[in-house]
Parts: sequence; structure tokens; C-alpha cells
Amino acid sequence: MLELQENEITSRLSAIVESSDDAIISKKFDGTIISWNNAAEKIFGYPANEAINNNISIIVPEELIEEEYKIIRKVKGGERIKHYETTRKTKAGHKILINLSVSPIKDRNGNIIAISNIARDVTRQKVADEKQAVLSSIVNSCDDAIISKTLDGIITCWNKAAQKMFGYTEEEAVGRHISIIIPPDRQQEEPMMIEKVLESVRVERFITVRVAKNKRKVNISLTVSPIKDKAGNIMGTSNIARDISYQKMAEEKQATLAAIVSSSDDAIISKTLFGIITSWNHAAAKMFGYKESEVIGKHISIIIPPDRMDEEDMIIENIRSGKKIDHFETVRLAKDGRKVHISLTVSPIKNKNGKIIGASKIARDITGKIEAEEQRLLYTQKLQQLNNYKDDFMAMASHELKTPLTIIKGNLDILLLSMREDNNSTFVQKTLKQIDKLEKLINDLLNVSKIQSGKLELKLADFDMNLLLKEMIRNIQPTTPIQILFEGSNKLMAYGDMDRIGFVIINLLGNAVKYSPASKAIKVNAFRSEDAVIVSVKDEGIGIPREELLNIFSRFYRVGGLNSTFSGSGIGLYISSEIIRRHGGKIWAESEPNKGSIFYFSIAASTQPS
Ligand code: ADP
Repeated sequence: MLELQENEITSRLSAIVESSDDAIISKKFDGTIISWNNAAEKIFGYPANEAINNNISIIVPEELIEEEYKIIRKVKGGERIKHYETTRKTKAGHKILINLSVSPIKDRNGNIIAISNIARDVTRQKVADEKQAVLSSIVNSCDDAIISKTLDGIITCWNKAAQKMFGYTEEEAVGRHISIIIPPDRQQEEPMMIEKVLESVRVERFITVRVAKNKRKVNISLTVSPIKDKAGNIMGTSNIARDISYQKMAEEKQATLAAIVSSSDDAIISKTLFGIITSWNHAAAKMFGYKESEVIGKHISIIIPPDRMDEEDMIIENIRSGKKIDHFETVRLAKDGRKVHISLTVSPIKNKNGKIIGASKIARDITGKIEAEEQRLLYTQKLQQLNNYKDDFMAMASHELKTPLTIIKGNLDILLLSMREDNNSTFVQKTLKQIDKLEKLINDLLNVSKIQSGKLELKLADFDMNLLLKEMIRNIQPTTPIQILFEGSNKLMAYGDMDRIGFVIINLLGNAVKYSPASKAIKVNAFRSEDAVIVSVKDEGIGIPREELLNIFSRFYRVGGLNSTFSGSGIGLYISSEIIRRHGGKIWAESEPNKGSIFYFSIAASTQPS
């Protein structure tokens, strides 16, 4: 009974041993194999009849034989050995990784008589583990968001890029529904994609939009694939999302730039460093008459006039050294031979690595501007010529008028003397007055032409300003009932051309008299201020509007509306101001309409002690 039971146990045990997936081998202390199960055959390749009675060294790599005997000795000595990972070799010579447990086999009395080895082939698991590690490191280091989810849309895996792209951490995302990153108006996309995946259709590069945790929209390109279990059943999907926001922005920027280039009024042309045209916009076609298709691939010299070919070398030289050429005015040739004046800006085109690969040219048609400039120059020259004619005429006419006038005046003077008592003498006197006016006008005109031709000469010397003023007042007082008041008794030495300054004074006094018909007095004053002598003439006349005060010193300028009341030519103040300016002095006026004016001029005081 007992024996039967024992037999049964033994056969059961050997059935277990045989059906085990682990290799179970027993051996003597000298290494002779005494048992070898099916799994041992499967793992090591030796059938039992080849292995049994052979030495265990048939499966131990040479370098581990020593270790093997060391362990045998330890077990023999009663030491317990923990299972450990080691290497064995198969019949075919392949090395395999096994997990080994070593135990003693004892007889009924408890004596250790042999050793059993249980070996598990862990090579495959190890490979699988490594593969897993590689995959997960790929998933985590990938720039694309990789998300896996169940068919119900529950997120099961969420890599680092997904966290970066959508803002949710792995802990926040895993276990939640994928709809957290789908905008409301795109929620139907998810069931549609699941449907496709279930039909085993891969969804590839589907362009869509998702929302990040902070509500920012993310433009993505999405690829969805099924995840299958070992039996091939689809248990979920993996979504790979690529952020294309930047690409989209770049595309939009590109489109905007292209629109700008094509709508520009300036010709925009790009070319290689060898001068081969690579782009040609609408304006270039319009400006030079060549269609884009006619010039792409051609050399830029087709629009360069032969005598300007060296410009191109200069331009390319600059571009090669990274320099920009700004507003370079030149001429190009259109298809019909027409010359186009352009202002050219050329900049280097660089590739992503910063290497200069070509040049972009922006050409603005300045033909109109150049023509206008030429026209203007022509007009200015003509105007200058006319002005010269006029000055010449004025000089000639005044000179020619002066001689007969002097003779007429002389004869009239003689006539007047000889007809003292004659009633008609008043006519002669009146005629003489008019001749004086005419003479003054002619003298003025002569002075103007002298000023114009730069021939107004000054004879500079020291003179007494007070004396000059008194003399001029003495000359003019008899012609007017208005009292001219002046109290300059001391010497006031100035430095200048006394005759010319006399002319200025007469002119100012004459105006003060002429433009103050109703006033009683004109006040003249002269004083020294630092190194200048200043003279003022004050009247109580009609005055001058403020906005006219600067104009009155211009040639032929008269305050508006005066012509009918006061005769004059508008020359006197112009000549006076030129005389003072040539003296290095100043002339100016202060005035108030209907109250009167004060005219001032200043010239250098004499440097000699008086
Ligand atoms: P004319 O007196 O011959 O017109 P002027 O060159 O001497 O030429 O003077 C220029 C203009 O300045 C005059 O036409 C007049 O309008 C104004 N003007 C000059 N002096 C006076 C003054 N004392 N009072 C008012 N207006 C004056």
C-alpha cells in the first residue's frame, strides 16, 4: 500500500517535472547529469539520452565552469544558494540567459547525494523588458504627443510631449476622457475616428485643432492607430499628435509675404550668386516687359545695359561679403530697349544656416522723378537766363536814360534862370520836380542792378554819423511841413561808406515824410551801443501791418493797397537793406498800423578815438 502510494507520488512528481516550463536537471557532485526533463531539452537543445550521463559542462560556458564547481561544492557542504541569473549555452552554441535555482537532493537519511538545478530561460523576457524600456524612452523623448486611450476614449497613456503640448500632466490626464482636449465644435471627430479604427482604417495626418489646459488652441496633425491585444482584438487607439501651429504660422507668413511681393509696385527679383534669376514678381514684369516664364533661369544681364555690366560684379561682390546696397540709382533696359531709371536696393538671401545663397533686388522706377528733376533744372536755367536778361536790360536802360535826363535837367535849370519873372516859370519848376523823381528812380534802378551784379562798391572810412544826419535833415526839411527833430550835438563816429549810408538815411526820412501825411513831427535819434552805432527814424504815420514787416525789405515789395495813395517803386528799402547788409550791420522796423513806425539800422562804430 505504502509502496503503491510512493509509486503514485513518484509518477505524479515526474509528470509535474516533465510538464514544467522550467528546465529541471539533476547532477552528481562531479557534474554528471542524472536527469533531464522536456523543458531542459527545449531550452538547451540536447535530448535526454544525449544529456544524461554527460557532464553538466555541456551547457556551461567555459568561463563559468569554475563557478559551477564552486557552487556544487557549496551545496555539497550544506550551504543554501539563492537563485541567481547566469548564462548557459545551448547545443547550437547560442548563449542564453537563465534564472537558476540550485538545491541539494538528499537520501532518506538526510545525506546530500546529488544536486538539482531548475533553470528558467529569461532571455526572451529580458529582450522584451529591454524593448519595453527602449519604446518607453522613445515615447517619452518624442516631440509628438503620444496618447493611448480605450475605445471609450479614456486616456491610458500620456507622454511628456503631450504634457508640453496640452498642459495637462500625466497624472491629470490619465483616467480622464479624451474630450478634455477637444473643442466643443469638434467633439464628433472622436467617434468618427474610432469608427474608422474599428474598420482597421488608419487615420493619417488628420489636420485639426485641440485645446490646451489654458484654453490655447493647438493646431495639430493627428495619426490614429489601433492597439491590439495578443489575440488581435482592438482594445484601444494610439493617437500621435504633431503641433503644426508653428508650421501653420510659417505658412500664413509665407502666404502674406508672397501676396506683398506680388502686389508690390516695386520690382522684386531674386537671383543666385551667379546672377541667375530665381524669382520675378508682377511689378518686375511690368517694369521690364519680360514675363516671369521668360526670365527665370536666365542671367540678370538681360536687363543690364552693356556699359553698366561692371555694376553687377560690384553688387555681387558686396552681397558675397554680406553687405546690403541701399538706394543705388542706376539704369536698366526693358525688353523693348527702353531705358528704365531705377533706385535699387539689394540684400543678401541667407539659408537656414546663415550662408549667403543669393540676392534679392528691389527696384523702384524713378524715370518720372529723373525726368521731373531734369525738367526742373531746365526751368531753373531758363529762369536764371531770363533774370540775367532783365538785369542787363535794367542796367542798360537806366544808364541810357540817365544821360538825356541830365541834359534835360541842365537845360531846364538854365531856362528857369533866364525866365525869372515869367508866369510860365512854375511849369518849368514842376517839370524839374518830376525830373528829380525820375532821376531818383533811375539812380535806384542803377543801384539795384549794381547790387544784382555784385558791383556795389563801398568806400569805407570813419565819419560822424550825427553830422551826416544833420546834413540829410537839412536837405529834406525844405520839402515838407513836418518837423524833423534831431538833437545830435556831439560827435558820433561810425565806420562805413558815408555816401551810401546817406542814401539809407534819405530813404528812411523820405519814407517817414511820405507815409505820414497827417503827422506833425518825425524824430531822429542816433546813439552808440557797444561797438555799433544805431540810428532810428520815428514817424506818426500810417504804420505797417505786423505780417508785412519782413517783406518790406524785399525788392519791388510794397504794402498792399498803397499804390493809389502813395507813389513809389518798392526799391528804396531793398537797396538800403543791401547797403546795411554789406556793411555787416542790421536794418529792421517796428510799427503799428495808424500809429506810426520806427525804422532802425546799425553799423560798426569807429574804432578810432574821437
Ligand atoms: P517805396 O516807398 O518806393 O514804395 P520802399 O522800399 O522805400 O519803397 O518801401 C517799401 C514799402 O514799405 C513801401 O511801399 C511801404 O509800403 C512801406 N513803408 C516804408 N516806409 C514806411 C513808413 N515809414 N511807414 C509806412 N510804410 C512804410
